[in-house]
Amino acid sequence: MSEPLVPRMREFGETIFAEMSARAVATGSINLGQGFPDTDGPPAMLEAAVEAIRSGGNQYPPGPGLPELREAVAAQRLERYGLEFDPATEVYVTVGATEGVAASVMALAGPGDEVIVFEPYYDSYAATVALAGAVRRPVLLRPVEGRFTFDPDELRAAVGPRTRLILVNSPHNPAGTVFTRDELQVIADVCREHDLVAVTDEVYEYLTYDGVEHVPLATLDGMRERTVTVSSVGKSFSVTGWKTGWVTAPARYVRAVQTVKQFLTYATGGPWQRAAAYGLRNELPWVGELRKSLEAKRDRLISGLEAAGFATYRPQGTYFVQADIRPLGFTDGIELAKALPERAGVVAIPTQVFYDHPEAGAHFVRFAFCKKDEVIDEAVERLARLA
Ligand SMILES: *Cc1c(COP(=O)(O)O)cnc(C)c1O
Repeated sequence: MSEPLVPRMREFGETIFAEMSARAVATGSINLGQGFPDTDGPPAMLEAAVEAIRSGGNQYPPGPGLPELREAVAAQRLERYGLEFDPATEVYVTVGATEGVAASVMALAGPGDEVIVFEPYYDSYAATVALAGAVRRPVLLRPVEGRFTFDPDELRAAVGPRTRLILVNSPHNPAGTVFTRDELQVIADVCREHDLVAVTDEVYEYLTYDGVEHVPLATLDGMRERTVTVSSVGKSFSVTGWKTGWVTAPARYVRAVQTVKQFLTYATGGPWQRAAAYGLRNELPWVGELRKSLEAKRDRLISGLEAAGFATYRPQGTYFVQADIRPLGFTDGIELAKALPERAGVVAIPTQVFYDHPEAGAHFVRFAFCKKDEVIDEAVERLARLA
């Protein structure tokens, strides 16, 4: 029988996450691969979801999302960033940021169009661009003085006549970079010069460290009108299983996104939306405490990795540390990641799976630090055996 999967999706068969998680289970390893916290979100917010179910919020919510969540998102964008969005026409609720990005890309780029992505990139981007029938044009983020960044000339050179979109993720998974105002200005200039739309994935907007500030691209001059911003509750409130996110953009872009989203899933789970609205209104102090605790966990993991012989990059945001494996005498991250469960009882993700040019990331592995202190401690103790 012939291969049933359409050709454009064939390169996305088995993900490394499935393989590594299976190995973690089979070997009893500590899983610092996939990025999800091992503690719960704010108790009152969890209670708000239960209450929404108990009080009958169990039928289809409006396609664009519950008004209370759209209003809470608009209030959050205004208070935190000074950005004004009309909750009726410029905010749209999606099934997590993943669907927000997917619906945006599918709405705004079609067959043969080019989408610029910064590599390494979040794993859903490549598949989403392929689903749209579009072509990804990667721009490399490389380490410069301890931090991953891009060369402005390479970004400019990546733009061609078929370029439609730039997909921007800041704070960036897996590189850990929070783009500076200067870096964002370069992206903004390119967008304006070539009449491109930016889709920004800001799911780690609250999770930045060392006083580094997250700047939404939409706050730069002339960018609100050409930026589709995506975020969600998953990372900010440690409820990654809730899959509740939103898009904020000028009404004409929201209408475009709506046209796609309504036929992907129509609406997003109602009880989660009620609880998300509650979280945005009431639990931002909790998020502030989460940020502090994650900063300490980052430092804890980095000290342990350095003691075990890795060279590390201190991320300015997100859940992840990039570790260079060469000081330990390894050169290939995939080989090491596959050996780690047996050799050390720890699972990590080889960063090269997030690249179109895997050679650029061959010597990095990604460790997640959104885990309990004792889990991090046990993991680095085990990793110390490698040296
Ligand atoms: C975790 C993550 C997502 C997924 O967000 P959901 O709201 O769970 O869909 C999207 N983008 C990045 C960069 C992530 O790390």
